[in-house]
Amino acid sequence: MFKYDKTSLKAEEFINDGEIMDSLKYADENKNDIELIDKIIEKAKLRKGIDHREASVLLACEIPEKIQEIYSLAEQIKKDFYGDRIVMFAPLYLSNYCVNGCVYCPYHAKNKHICRKKLTQDEVRQEVIALQDMGHKRLAIEAGEDPVNNPIEYILECIKTIYSIKHKNGAIRRVNVNIAATTVENYRKLKEAGIGTYILFQETYNKKSYEELHPTGPKHNYNYHTEAMDRAMEGGIDDVGIGVLFGLELYRYELAGMLMHAEHLEAVHGVGPHTISVPRIKRADDIDPDAFDNGIDDETFEKIVAIIRIAVPYTGMIISTRESQKVREKVLKLGISQISGGSRTSVGGYVEPEAEDENSAQFDVSDNRTLDEVVRWLMELGYIPSFCTACYREGRTGDRFMSLCKSGQIQNCCHPNALMTLEEYLMDYASDETRKIGEKIIEKELLKIPNEKVRKIAAEHIADIANNNKRDFRF
Ligand code: SAM
Repeated sequence: MFKYDKTSLKAEEFINDGEIMDSLKYADENKNDIELIDKIIEKAKLRKGIDHREASVLLACEIPEKIQEIYSLAEQIKKDFYGDRIVMFAPLYLSNYCVNGCVYCPYHAKNKHICRKKLTQDEVRQEVIALQDMGHKRLAIEAGEDPVNNPIEYILECIKTIYSIKHKNGAIRRVNVNIAATTVENYRKLKEAGIGTYILFQETYNKKSYEELHPTGPKHNYNYHTEAMDRAMEGGIDDVGIGVLFGLELYRYELAGMLMHAEHLEAVHGVGPHTISVPRIKRADDIDPDAFDNGIDDETFEKIVAIIRIAVPYTGMIISTRESQKVREKVLKLGISQISGGSRTSVGGYVEPEAEDENSAQFDVSDNRTLDEVVRWLMELGYIPSFCTACYREGRTGDRFMSLCKSGQIQNCCHPNALMTLEEYLMDYASDETRKIGEKIIEKELLKIPNEKVRKIAAEHIADIANNNKRDFRF
C-alpha cells in the first residue's frame, strides 16, 4: 500500500489511489452539505485556489444554485486573471510513426491502414510557412513515440528549422512540445533548443486503467509517464502542461488526480503546471469514441472547466479544435485562456489537405473554421485574440510568470502585448472585415491600460506596426 504524500517523487504516492478514493467518498458524503460548499466557495473567492478534495465536493454537488455560484466565480476569476485575452496557437504534426499500443489513438502500432508520414525538414519548412501565412506565432509540435523514426535528434532538428524560418513578416516565436515522456537528459536538450511549454497528457490518472489503455510499448509504464513532469523540471523546463483525455476513465477520478498532480508540482518545484488541457476523446481512423464508457456530456464538461478555473487560478487552460464552436464559446467564458484555430491534425495537412483514402490525422476536428474566422468570432464575442509570446522570450517562465500574475501587473504587460500582436495580425493576415472590427477594439482597449507611460508607448508601437512596418514589440 502506498501512502499519500504530495512531496514524494514516486507516482503512486503523489497520485495516490487511496487518497483519490477517499476524496470521492468524502465528496459523495458532503455533496449536499450547503455549509461546507459555501465554505469552499468562500475559500475559492480568495483566488488562491482550492485542493483536490474541495474541488471533488464541488464536482459532486448537484444543487443548481450552487453550481451557478461556481460558474459566476469561475467567470469572475477568468476576467480578473486573464482579462478578455485569448491566446492563439496551432498544432503542427511532425510524424505519426508510433510504437505504442494506446487503444484510443489511431497512431497505435497495430494500425496498418493509417497512412504513416514523417515530415522532412523541407516539409517542416513548408508547413511553417503555411502556418505563418495564416498568422500563427505559437505552435505546439506533436509526434508519436518512435525512437527510430522520431528520435529526440529529429525533434530538435525540427525545432531549429521552425525557429529559423522568417517568411515575409512571419515568425514562429514560441514552440511548445507535445511528445512522449522522456529522460532528464532529453528534457535538457529540449530546454536548450528554446521550447516554450512541455506538454504531456496523463491520459488517465488511474493506474489500472492506464495499463489497460496502454497495453504495449514504452508508454505502458505508468510510473515513468506520471513522473515525467518531475524529470522535465529537473532538466530545466519550468513551464509544463498537463491534461487528461476525458472519456477514458471516470471524470471525478481524473479531476482529483489532475489537481493532485498540480499540487505535487507546486509542493516539490515551487510552481504548478503552466497550462491544463481538457481534451475529450474523438472519432479517428479506427477509433470509435462510443466504444469508451466514460464519455462526458457538454454540461459536465463545462462544470469541469469551471472547477479547474477556480481550483488553479494561475494555470492557463487550453481547448483545441476537438470541440465545436458552440462548446468552445461556453467554456471560453468559464475559464479557457488559450485556443487553437485553423488546425490540421494530419501530418503535412497545412500545405495539402488529405485525400479521403490517405488519412494520417490523429482525430477528427469539430471546429473547421479558418484562423481569420476564429479571430473575428472571438472579437465579436468581446475577446481580444492575442498572438503574444513575450513572457517566455523575456524569461518570465515558471515562478517568474506566476509572480507577474500575482503582482497584478498583467494589465500593464499582457494587455498591451496582446493589442500589439493583434495589430500585427490585422496588418499582415486579416481579411478586411476582421481588420475593421480589430482596429475598433484596439482603439478602445488601449484606453484600458492603467499606466499612462505604458499606454503611450503601446499606442506608439501600434502606430509603428501600422504605418512603418515595424514588428515584434513587447513589454
Ligand atoms: N505521443 C505523444 C504522447 O505519448 O504523449 C504525443 C501525444 S499525441 C500526439 C497528443 C494527444 O492526443 C495524446 O496525448 C492524447 O491525449 C490525444 N489523443 C489521442 N487519441 C485521441 C483521440 N482519438 N481523440 C482525441 N484525442 C486523442
